[in-house]
Amino acid sequence: MSSIRTHNLGYPRIGEHRELKKATEAYWQGKISREELEDTGRRLRRGNWLKQQAAGIDLIPCNDFSFYDQVLDATCLLGNIPPRFGRQDASDPDSLFLIARGSRDTADNCGDGCGCQTGTFASEMTKWFDTNYHYIVPEFHAGTEFKVSGTKVFDEFQEALALGIHAKPVLIGPVTYLSLGKSHDADFDRFSLLDGLVAAYEEIIGRLAALGATWIQIDEPILATDLDDRRRDAFLEAYARLATVAGNTRLMVASYFGGLRDNLPLFLSLPVAGLHFDAVRGSDEVPELLEKFPEDKVLSLGVVDGRNIWRNDFDASLGLLAEAEARLGKERLWIAPSCSLIHSPVTLENEPKLDPEIKNWLAFADEKLAEVSALGDLLGGRAGPGVLEENRAAHLGRRGSPRIHNPAVRARLAAVAPQDLERRSRFPERQALQREKLKLPLFPTTTIGSFPQTAEVRSARARWKSGLLPAVAYDAFIKEETRRCVAFQDEIGIDMPVHGEFERNDMVEYFGEQLEGFTFTANGWVQSYGTRCVKPPVIFGDVSRPRPMTTYWSGFAKSLTERPMKGMLTGPVTILQWSFVRNDQPRETTTRQIALAIRDEVLDLEAIGLAAIQIDEPAIREGLPLRRADWDPYLAWAVDAFRLCASGVRDETQIHTHMCYSEFNDIIGAIAALDADVITIETSRSNMELLDAFVDFNYPNEIGPGVYDIHSPRVPGVAEMRHLMEKAGAVIPTGNLWVNPDCGLKTRGWPEVRASLVHMVACARALREKS
Ligand code: GLN
Ligand code: ZN
Repeated sequence: MSSIRTHNLGYPRIGEHRELKKATEAYWQGKISREELEDTGRRLRRGNWLKQQAAGIDLIPCNDFSFYDQVLDATCLLGNIPPRFGRQDASDPDSLFLIARGSRDTADNCGDGCGCQTGTFASEMTKWFDTNYHYIVPEFHAGTEFKVSGTKVFDEFQEALALGIHAKPVLIGPVTYLSLGKSHDADFDRFSLLDGLVAAYEEIIGRLAALGATWIQIDEPILATDLDDRRRDAFLEAYARLATVAGNTRLMVASYFGGLRDNLPLFLSLPVAGLHFDAVRGSDEVPELLEKFPEDKVLSLGVVDGRNIWRNDFDASLGLLAEAEARLGKERLWIAPSCSLIHSPVTLENEPKLDPEIKNWLAFADEKLAEVSALGDLLGGRAGPGVLEENRAAHLGRRGSPRIHNPAVRARLAAVAPQDLERRSRFPERQALQREKLKLPLFPTTTIGSFPQTAEVRSARARWKSGLLPAVAYDAFIKEETRRCVAFQDEIGIDMPVHGEFERNDMVEYFGEQLEGFTFTANGWVQSYGTRCVKPPVIFGDVSRPRPMTTYWSGFAKSLTERPMKGMLTGPVTILQWSFVRNDQPRETTTRQIALAIRDEVLDLEAIGLAAIQIDEPAIREGLPLRRADWDPYLAWAVDAFRLCASGVRDETQIHTHMCYSEFNDIIGAIAALDADVITIETSRSNMELLDAFVDFNYPNEIGPGVYDIHSPRVPGVAEMRHLMEKAGAVIPTGNLWVNPDCGLKTRGWPEVRASLVHMVACARALREKS
């Protein structure tokens, strides 16, 4: 073959109008049949394959489709369905749904809050590396046996073949699969399962080879993380065996989500026919990679960013590709996106309302594939006239556009001084002043912010946005909701009420919509987990706040009660983390710009008399880089950004923050460095174990360890909350403890919220009497 090959690592499966989500949910509700669901799946796969073919992609992936999650597909393929689900047909979507969602009776049957569950509880879900995609965690135990059980990968290969497409099956690699799983027995060595796991992969590869697959892509993103010796050995052992079974079928190991650093020699030593490298995040490693690249392998260079939505810079990519071509020749070089495109929205075609100037800077999955193909043409001298020039013009236009540059923001950022990150006094003095001002009882009660976003609230907002409900009527409706919410909190005796967040669609979108430098797509959906999709805002320019964002509602709520109302804001790292972020400046700079906007909002809330302001940062933890060595620099700027938001206020203004993680130990230093006066955290599901990190660290400020799990509709009893608080009271000074739920209440219904909060207040009162 004389021209450089192009390929794709994975295509978004949700459909350009979220067809898969809609069909799957309809199936769950019994509105469509299993056959109709499978039909939708087939239609989507066919459409996606043909689209990629039309885009000029030479090698198109299959088995990148999933009815729920690709890791769960691997679990089924390998016959690793957790025993508690009983024997299920591994090729049946119902099995996927059962493992991912559990069966209906997962309620706490004994009712004493001990957390025991009967029935089949779902497998856990967790974040896929540093993306916002969540996978279903494989489960391992000493008796785990792998047996090739699912047929999906074989079926999809043949399905593509029937359409005349000789696809490249995609598998999760064995080392990544083992690394991402969990075992309930902490002492169990999951790598003892490697032998059997590799045997199953041998069989899978053998069967795909027999079906005629020429290339198989094996994803090992774990290569972009810190690997211990056990994992390195596992790589060598696994691939030594897999390479020999492949026969004429060639294996390509794909690494992505970062450069390889110390894993580069291991990567290059894998005895496979091809290696895929993320040349976006790993661009500075390309020279070394090329220099050391083995003579017998194909290199797939991922030059088009699969993790963002910006147009590729053809000049930069062609520079890398030309270097690679000079070193490897045409035969051994492939062009690809950096990773699977499931992390990017499907197409710009359905964005007629997007500002044309900004739209011209963007590329979603379809446009990215066109870029991969165009780069191949440009490199091979086959590109049509003007392709490169047009790309250059778009980049030049973006760089020079007044839309993205705001000199006032730049000047303000440059003028930020160290004292802007410091509260006026240290915590003990602030605490004394706040106590005097707020006059709260011991064990003060509060909530995390949101109250039920009922169907009526959502429908009123939708009608208002589409022009069906006049703005005044919407305003009156939200006021009524807020009034009822504040009255309810007053009536049951919540010490520090909130306004309820009824006016907010989403904790990031609400702010993004009011900030300069943000834009929103109409259909830019990305799968988050299962049928849940998110539509992240796009941060394209310098961020500023033209006018106050929350004072109207917080001020209104404050006027309704004598008690100290808490204002509610989203923190800068969370806003950044849940958006598509501009790639023309460091993330740190964008975060600081957002922080300045939030800082102004904090001061405006203080000015209208709010005595407490909460800045939520639930995403600080998920922003952690994949490599441990990068954690400290990240945490340093994340903490600074929070402090920049929080430090403008007077000592007696109480700054709260909220985080809902499952792990605090490794970042507790940073959390303490935020120096929030009060932090509320999720702890009830861990039976207060998550508090240990705070205790061990001697966490000095006030803390509200969540006493009930808002993820479940179950109403917790007073005694069980009291039991949790007593556990907390044994290790945290009484005067520093707050009583609150684990997280916001927006997904719950009013009846359970009412009952639970009444119990929570009763719990606080009982604690007060005792102390
Ligand atoms: N204030 C937000 C709420 O209550 C916090 C949500 C969160 O922690 N993710 O909904
Ligand atoms: Zn939360």
